[in-house]
Amino acid sequence: MENKKKPKRRLRFLPKKRKKKQVSNLPVKNKQKRKKKKHSKTYYRNRNIILIVTLVIALFLGFSNRQRLRLMMKGYTFHDAGLLIKSKDGDISDYLKLKDAINMEDWEEIENDGHYYDYYLLKKTYPDVATVVTYIDGFYTIFPKLQELGYDMETCRKFMDTVSVSEFRLLVDHEIEYEEAKPYLNIPYCIIRDIEDYIQTDAKTPEEAIMEVSYRNVNSSKQLDREYVIVDPEQSKSVLVKEDYNLKQDYEPKDLVEPDVLYAYGTPAPSLRKEAAKAYEKMVAAAEKKDLQLVVTSSYRSYADQDALYDAYVKEYGYAYIKKYCLPAGCSEHQLGTSLDLTSYSVLIGEHYSFGDTDEFKWLKKNAHKYGFILRYPESKENITGVECEPWHIRYVGKEIAEEMYEDNLTLEEYILENGFDYSLAIQS
Ligand SMILES: [Zn+2]
Repeated sequence: MENKKKPKRRLRFLPKKRKKKQVSNLPVKNKQKRKKKKHSKTYYRNRNIILIVTLVIALFLGFSNRQRLRLMMKGYTFHDAGLLIKSKDGDISDYLKLKDAINMEDWEEIENDGHYYDYYLLKKTYPDVATVVTYIDGFYTIFPKLQELGYDMETCRKFMDTVSVSEFRLLVDHEIEYEEAKPYLNIPYCIIRDIEDYIQTDAKTPEEAIMEVSYRNVNSSKQLDREYVIVDPEQSKSVLVKEDYNLKQDYEPKDLVEPDVLYAYGTPAPSLRKEAAKAYEKMVAAAEKKDLQLVVTSSYRSYADQDALYDAYVKEYGYAYIKKYCLPAGCSEHQLGTSLDLTSYSVLIGEHYSFGDTDEFKWLKKNAHKYGFILRYPESKENITGVECEPWHIRYVGKEIAEEMYEDNLTLEEYILENGFDYSLAIQS
């Protein structure tokens, strides 16, 4: 069986060449056939040479253009892939890392130096294309100097959404090396223009240095000629709002609700952020069990409401008097939607003159923290808060912080000076 099969197989699978060879060994009889064979031999040899040369050229081109090919496989056109290669001197690894292809049309209209990868990254922070290009191209003019000071590209990219080009330039102008700046740069409320001063303090921790240099006016008895704006008041429950620590004019809480609680006749229905509203309802219910009636006189106030109120108060009582009690628009906690002014039933019916004299206030002083509230302007802390004692004003900060502040008898200012901020601030321009 095997012997029979083998020759058959050989015939079937013999390469053409060998087949032909066999044919050429035939007697010279068939001249025409031989001529034809000779011709095709040259033909095949030439063809093979051409094939090999083409293959070599293709391999060479493919090798030298492999970056372009890889980019094209990501979805870039031949032209765009060329631009990307040029923009990074051939190092396309960043572009390959991205999940999607960059839409190159976005950057076409703007005269630029082609830092497409960084444009793409920064577009998440600044949706305006021109701003992104101006930022990145400006940045690259100072980047070599930053590099000399030890800042690498990855480090710089980390800070690009919070640090402006002029702030980067400041680091260069003041020759602040990365190793020196690093501990401060990693703290979100660090102020770049103050880094030189941080380095010079003898504070024990970077946080302490930052609080001392950039935020000493958290304590109202200390002077610092600077105003801050709170970037996003919903980043934290313990946002500090006071003079020089402002809310933006257009800030309005997104989750205001109306708690189901008593409020004084002639005042609008109370409105608070959801979490604060719930906590307040709980607290009121607990107070009621002790036969105490808390009544809301004021809660959320918009920037415009506060502005109108402040103007009216100034007209009625004069600026010198009112500045101790009523804060200008943007500086009032009421705009946060987590503050309340309270009174009690006993005051409303004339049993007491002031809320500070009531049993309700005494109870609040001992129990508010259990529900996440603090007495924001306590007595004997006026110099720190900058506001005269207001027994009626409470603020929601969440149970955890409220309890800590209660235990250590701290104002919000003192708590922040000790713990730093857990949200971002920007210098008000
Ligand atoms: Zn108030």
